[in-house]
Amino acid sequence: MARIKNYINGNFQNPILDNWLDNYNPSNGEVYGQIPNSSKEDVEKAYTSAKSAFKLWSQTTLEERSRILIKISELLEVNLQRFAEAESLDNGKPLNLAKVVDIPRAASNFRFFGNAITQFASESHESVGHQAINYTLRQSIGVVGCISPWNLPLYLFTWKIAPALAAGNCVIAKPSEVTPMTAYLLGEICNEAGLPEGVLNIVHGLGTTTGQAIIEHPNIKAISFTGGTATGAHIAKVAAPMFKKLSLELGGKNPNIIFADCDYEDMLNTTVRSSFANQGQICLCGSRIFVEASIFEKFKKDFVEKVRQLKVGHPSNDDTNIGALVSKPHLEKVKAYIDIAKNENGTVLCGGNEVSVKGYENGYYLEPTVIEVTSDECRVNQEEIFGPIVTIMPFNTEDEVLEMANNVKYGLSATLWTNDLKRTMKLSNQLQTGIVWVNTWMMRDLRTPFGGVKASGVGREGGFEALRFFTEAKNVCIKY
Ligand code: NAD
Repeated sequence: MARIKNYINGNFQNPILDNWLDNYNPSNGEVYGQIPNSSKEDVEKAYTSAKSAFKLWSQTTLEERSRILIKISELLEVNLQRFAEAESLDNGKPLNLAKVVDIPRAASNFRFFGNAITQFASESHESVGHQAINYTLRQSIGVVGCISPWNLPLYLFTWKIAPALAAGNCVIAKPSEVTPMTAYLLGEICNEAGLPEGVLNIVHGLGTTTGQAIIEHPNIKAISFTGGTATGAHIAKVAAPMFKKLSLELGGKNPNIIFADCDYEDMLNTTVRSSFANQGQICLCGSRIFVEASIFEKFKKDFVEKVRQLKVGHPSNDDTNIGALVSKPHLEKVKAYIDIAKNENGTVLCGGNEVSVKGYENGYYLEPTVIEVTSDECRVNQEEIFGPIVTIMPFNTEDEVLEMANNVKYGLSATLWTNDLKRTMKLSNQLQTGIVWVNTWMMRDLRTPFGGVKASGVGREGGFEALRFFTEAKNVCIKY
């Protein structure tokens, strides 16, 4: 059985205490490999190697850092099929999705930050009348920690690692223990691209052991985390008193607001995608759909008809729209919300059942599910489900829908469908989220700030925001 290893100091290594975890294939429910459950000792080993690499890497020219990052990007592109197959096998997502979204985006992350670092500039301020000039240095932080979730494994892992490396830091990174495979394969690519030993170290294991050892390490000076809100709160509790820099990208419960004046077909097709792409396991999915009352019945009929056409199937089949959920416990959690909805007077309009895929009967498959709810206060409208379940309900006025959209603890993203300019401006301004999409969904320009407000996190990733996070500003004031 294949065993994934830690990538420390450019080498693949077994965990020091020889503890291993099973790795499941979500499409058939079988264990297909093992991964290290790394201990404090492994993290310390990774830290030692990162620390000694830092001196050289932080002084490596921007052109050279850029060249290596772009080389990693190119190698990911060359290995697209291999990485996409590994991602799909490990996560349960359709292979086609991994091929067009996950792996290309991971490659783009390296290319983008490889280029961005050559354009990153710091400021200078002339103190007029005081004969002084200030200039601000943007210095690498040192050894930083990057911790990522299972839903977009390599995509989100590299979204942190690439800017951290571009900015001259050395990294200790931990992918989700549920989806470790592509992070493991990334080590090989980094070696081939000529990334010096110790600059990137990848340790595998549970959040409570390996992750915990990273966040409590006294000399890991910044933590970039993407994952659940409860985990984010725990990390803040541990890391804040140690004065670590923190970037926390957390959960969401995003509203999808549909007005009668929208481009209906475009809205309908995109709404199917924003509801169920990646089995609904994207932090940006619009899981609360609010529809203007005048088109509610039409939308309900058309939407349900389209959702019924989605094919749940084995991730490697070309015609599969919805693959397997990531794990058995996650499937159980998501399913439980269907009963919760029913108990709260929700009406299941379609879906709601597990699917038995022929030949893969023990896989974690669930029908895409649409639930009509009568109140915005119900649990399925307030709690993050993170699976193929959306709710729909009608609204009458802009103010009413704005109130409901903002009436959750989360604030990651919102989608707005309308052709009315004044309404667009007003609602975009007043929605309590870090991201608003108007007449589109998940259109990403990597230069833009990415992140949430309220329980969806603190800090912004993307573009120069990420490079600012991964550097310390130091002002130098010179009197002349
Ligand atoms: P999770 O919080 O359970 O785990 C995320 C990572 O944190 C994993 O690598 C895990 O091992 C690690 N971890 C867990 N406990 C830890 C600890 N004590 N110390 C250090 N690390 C620890 O989240 P998940 O279930 O993997 O991912 C799903 C969640 O991620 C959802 O809530 C989703 O909304 C969120 N998410 C947010 C974004 C965003 O950009 N805001 C993107 C994707 C996913």
